Order: sequence, then structure tokens, then C-alpha cells
Amino acid sequence: MTDNTPKMPVILIGNNFKYEIEATLKLFFNTARFSFGSSRGEAAGDEYIIAETDGNRLSAEVKLRGRAPVKREAEVCAGQDREHELCRLLFHILSGETGIAPPWGLMTGIRPVKKVVELIREDLSKDEIFRILTEKYEAAPKKLQLAYDTAVNQLPIIDRIDSTAASLYVSIPFCPTRCSYCSFVSHSMASAMKLMPEYVDALCRELEILGNIVKETDTKIDTIYFGGGTPTSLSARELRTIMEAVEKNFDLAGIREYSVEAGRPDTITEEKLRVIKELGAERISVNPQTLNDDVLKVIGRQHSGEDAIKAFELARKVGFRNINTDLIAGLPTESAESFRNTLDRMIELDPESITVHTLTLKRSATLFSSGSENSSNPAAEMVDYSIPALMSHGYLPYYMYRQKNTVDNLENVGYAKKGFESYYNIFIMDETQTILGAGCAASTKLLYENNRIERIHNYKFPYEYIRSFDKLMEKKEEVRECLKKIKYLKLK
Ligand code: SF4
Repeated sequence: MTDNTPKMPVILIGNNFKYEIEATLKLFFNTARFSFGSSRGEAAGDEYIIAETDGNRLSAEVKLRGRAPVKREAEVCAGQDREHELCRLLFHILSGETGIAPPWGLMTGIRPVKKVVELIREDLSKDEIFRILTEKYEAAPKKLQLAYDTAVNQLPIIDRIDSTAASLYVSIPFCPTRCSYCSFVSHSMASAMKLMPEYVDALCRELEILGNIVKETDTKIDTIYFGGGTPTSLSARELRTIMEAVEKNFDLAGIREYSVEAGRPDTITEEKLRVIKELGAERISVNPQTLNDDVLKVIGRQHSGEDAIKAFELARKVGFRNINTDLIAGLPTESAESFRNTLDRMIELDPESITVHTLTLKRSATLFSSGSENSSNPAAEMVDYSIPALMSHGYLPYYMYRQKNTVDNLENVGYAKKGFESYYNIFIMDETQTILGAGCAASTKLLYENNRIERIHNYKFPYEYIRSFDKLMEKKEEVRECLKKIKYLKLK
């Protein structure tokens, strides 16, 4: 299939700052495509962008929608970051021309919370941190406040990370059907059903191999996380088989957290919840995303808001005392009022943590290709409502991440009541602990000295994972070497 979407010419003269400039442009053009060139002659038509450097002189020129071009120039001193300053010129022109004020300013490609944590560790005061980040990135004060609060809440947990231990991620990349906004590697149960026995078998073999390496290297397992997809897409029997393989091959006695992302309410049954509980997981997620039935229909979910509430109550009845619920701000057709109703109802249900994501559209999502992206999405209003609403009910922000192509460049934030923060979610963001990934589409993140990270990616598709299992397991030798080094660190 050819992509006939017109591309906006972006001309780089005297520099090759393509990556950073494209990231800046994406703050204003959510799903636009760019064609990069280096000759001024390519800047023709109704729309173009020129980003030029000549020694320490920088200039940016933007023409949009056939209007007169707007140009800005600046001169940088030795030692100033030319790439960043050129992006700043573009940022100012584009803010004026589009009327868009990206909430995180020029913070692209960096993690705001990680940055704040670094500055707190340098013993800087809150005022100094705000001043530095405002000057450099021009982020909105309310976003800096959110990043600061998140950093403060997560710091005591980061300080307790055991870098000589490892966490285990078990991937179940199946869902009953695919949600229209989905950008993950997930496979519908209908197409994967035939492969399921072989998949479960391969996954259990991988757990055994990893378990042996962990035992040989005397590595402590810190947290376990079953994610997906939707792990509860599996039958109770399949779930039991996999969780028993975890129990058999890993020492669960010393783990700090065991989570299963139950996920979609339409897959949650009492039998599955009892299996999860019996086999040691104490934290689960029930993820309605919204309680509005019309919106659930639009995104391709086969359950109602009431089903989500019933699944939550069932989990309580089975005895779960640590439940997370995921919501998404900015779902297609959802109004700000409907989101507020969902959030208020979730707060009434009183889960231990609530994660507020913002809709992200990736090229693989059905919504993206059908072009039904909301042009006036009230996601920002929803997010603005969620922060004080959650904080005033004792839910504190403790982890945050941002993704590309998120509506209005907003963020995803995990809020939890004190003592119910998920270690695993922080470890994944902080990247200071080795994560062993098992299953199709899982990644292993090996942490070496000086925070160097090596990644091993398992195959994305179940049939590849099953067919090339032995070849994949050869790569696990690297896990052994890394864990030996971790042990060495422990002995130092
Ligand atoms: S439940 Fe999550 S992983 Fe599964 S299809 Fe929907 S968005 Fe994708």
C-alpha cells in the first residue's frame, strides 16, 4: 500500500539535526509526515520549514497554510547547545503560528521525572529546579509541579532499588479482540487459539531456563509482573500452568511484589482470580479505560462500564487488597464530562491505585488508519481534572512516562495511595534493575556496571517464538553472563 499523504518539506541547511527537529515538529503536527531535504529550492508551496545554522548563527523560517513565511534568528555563544536553540526558534514560531502551547515545552526525548530526580540529587531546591527547567525547556508550571511531585513520591522507592536483584516480566500478548486505539503487540485470541497449547508450553520452558540461570547465579528475584496483552485472556487452566511454572522455577519467598494485569473486565472470572491469588500474586489491574458504554463500543470493547465495576467488586470478594485500575483520557467520542464521571466513579470504588493514560495513536492502530482522530480532543481538560481530583483523595503521582503521538503531547501518570506504589512500574522507568522478560514480545533488559543496558528482544509473533524457540534460547547465555556480573557486584 502506498502512502499518498502529502509531506511537509523540512530543509536543514548547515546542520543535520533531523532527529531533534522532527521531535519538535511533532509537538505541533500530531500525525503529519515530513520530507527532509538540504536545498533551499525544495522550500516551495504553501507549507515548508527551514532550519539553518551558519557557525553560531541560527535561523528558522516557517510557512504554513499559504500564509506569509515567519522567520526568527538567534546567535549562540560558544558552549551553547546549537541543536536545542535551533529547536527553540522553531518552537516559538510554531507556537505563534498554530496557537498550540505544548504543555511539556521543549522536553522531547527526556523523562521529566528522571530529570527532576537528578536535580534533587544535586541538592537543588524546588525553586532552582523549576527555574532551570523553565529556562531550558519552557514547560508549563503545572507540568513541572506534576513532575516534581512524582519525583518526590518515587524517590524513597528508587532509593530502595536493589540493583543486584532482577525482576521477572511474563508476557501474555493476547487479547479477546483488538481495541481500536491499540498500539501494542497483541494478538486476538481467535487467531492465536490454535497456537495456545504450544505457546504455553514454550513459555513454561523459557521460565524453566531462566529459573535455572537465576538459581545458578544466585540472583534474587525482586518483583514479578504478568503483562500483555491481557493475561486473563488465557483460560484458568492455562494461567495456572504458567503461574505454577513461575512458582516451581523461582523462589517467591523474598519477592516484594507480584502483579498480574488482569486487564479487560470481559476476561475476568472468579475462577481465574482465585488461581491468580492462590499462586501468589497480590496485585492485579482491572482496566475499564472508561465507564461510558458508548465510548467502550467505539473503541471496540465487548464489555460495559457496569461489567468493569462488577469485575472490580469480584476481585475484592476474592480477596485482592491491592487493585490498580487504568483509565485513558482522550478516547474517541468521550467528552470531558463523561471522563469526569468515570474518574469520580473509580475514586468511589476506592482502588489502591489509578493510572491515567492519555490516548496515543500509533501507525498500527485501526483508529489511525481510518483517520478518525479527534481534532478537538478534550484530553487536556480531562488530565487537568484528574490531577487535583486524585490527589485530594489520597492518590499521589508516583510514576510517569510520555510517549510519542500522544494527544496534545500529554503524559501517563500512575497514582497510588501511600504504600501501594508499584515497584515494577518504577523499575521499568528508572532502568536501574535487570528485567528478565519471558514470552513472546517480551524484552530482557540487562543492567551492567555504570548503568549500561543491553536488551534482548524475544520474537514478536507467537508462531515465531514457538518455531525459533531454541535459537532464541541461545541468546539467554548473555543473561547468565550478566547475572554473574550482578553477583560479582554483590560481592564487591
Ligand atoms: S486490551 Fe490493551 S493490549 Fe489488548 S487490544 Fe486493547 S489496548 Fe491492546
